[in-house]
Amino acid sequence: MKRTPLESWIAAKIGAPGRPEPELLRAYQLEKLRETVAYVKSRSRFYKQRLADVSADDIKSLADIARLPFTYPQDIAGSPNDFICVSPREIERIVTLSTSGTTGNPKRVFFTPDDQELTTDFFHHGMTTLTDETDRVMIFMPGTTPGSVGDLLTKGLARYGCTGIVYGPVRDYNHALQALIDEKITALVGIPSQILALARTELPGGGKLSVKNVLLSADYVPKAAVRAIERAWGAAVYGHYGMTETGLGGGVECQARDGYHLREADLYVEIVDPVTGIPVPDGDEGEVVFTTLTRRGMPLVRYRTGDRARFMTEPCPCGTVLRRLGRVMGRLGEVIRLPDGRTLSITELDEIILADDGVIAYDASLETRDGEVTLAVVLRSEGRTDTARLAQRLQSQFGHLFASGVLKLDVREGDPAFFTTGTLKRKITDRRGY
Ligand SMILES: [Zn+2]
Repeated sequence: MKRTPLESWIAAKIGAPGRPEPELLRAYQLEKLRETVAYVKSRSRFYKQRLADVSADDIKSLADIARLPFTYPQDIAGSPNDFICVSPREIERIVTLSTSGTTGNPKRVFFTPDDQELTTDFFHHGMTTLTDETDRVMIFMPGTTPGSVGDLLTKGLARYGCTGIVYGPVRDYNHALQALIDEKITALVGIPSQILALARTELPGGGKLSVKNVLLSADYVPKAAVRAIERAWGAAVYGHYGMTETGLGGGVECQARDGYHLREADLYVEIVDPVTGIPVPDGDEGEVVFTTLTRRGMPLVRYRTGDRARFMTEPCPCGTVLRRLGRVMGRLGEVIRLPDGRTLSITELDEIILADDGVIAYDASLETRDGEVTLAVVLRSEGRTDTARLAQRLQSQFGHLFASGVLKLDVREGDPAFFTTGTLKRKITDRRGY
């Protein structure tokens, strides 16, 4: 098994001879953290206030990061411009993100050309995990705008002679499959729901796919989707973890395909208790929080991602000295509270519902019907789903939820127009009292 290429990349970035031994990496991160705190305090209106009571000198060890206040997505939505640390003409790319909050203010994230170079460089080295110069990679993500994920990824691939072809988000699955065949694609990058749908679309007659490696990029990758894609195509499926705020890239799985190695020279990642905010011991699950160590346009200090994960304590089979972030277990917000106080998350439902051959996406909601609390699941499927059987599997898997007798289960096929085909988002909503 090949060791993650991020190891030698990070060693070179931090100036470590050979391997980025943990004590060298931590010393580098501490120095960069102190630099970042001093930098944002002197340049960003937001951090001038938020960090008014702390100085870089207060941070004597990485554990002292716990003395710094958090940055929340709402902070960015509230006043994105207050985060900017450079003059407006140094900003090359602005990404606008919608927020689910009640304010409805979009978040804006700003990047300088140097910030974008950091991402391209990560894409270059990260992608050598699963591709080399002989590969042809199709990118099912936006890529027409300079600085978009597809654009930077194509540039990163080109640096080692690998061909990247931006297809963009899938709207027509037959068309996308045909493109994979026509372009003799050997590897692809996309979001889990779209690639799952693609793997579940029948190949055009006489067509043959040569896809060997797949990279799924998202905050959360359902295991059921990975298994289904691997079965359909006989391809190896890797996960990437990242978001616009981390600089698009964040971490990528090695050939062990069991947890993400992170861009540790660019990001300092912590796991904290989502309620108390106190960092949890390695191995315990909590909320992913990161601090950017090398960004210039809009650095972020202790940014709360809302993603649930843990640091894995076992050494990685690939033999690296780098840490491993375990699979993201979903988002803190994507949970509904059941009548008996227990919770149900979209990730729990995913593993049962997406394991069904025909299902591509679904909408789950908790509703009150005739005074009884009902879990209603509307499927987007290819019409091949045995809804009664799926209901039975949910019933047996989540027996504890129904034990009290207050819950009913209703599984049905949705009108094909029920979901917009572009995004295929899975949703879980609490509609009680609406
Ligand atoms: Zn590894």
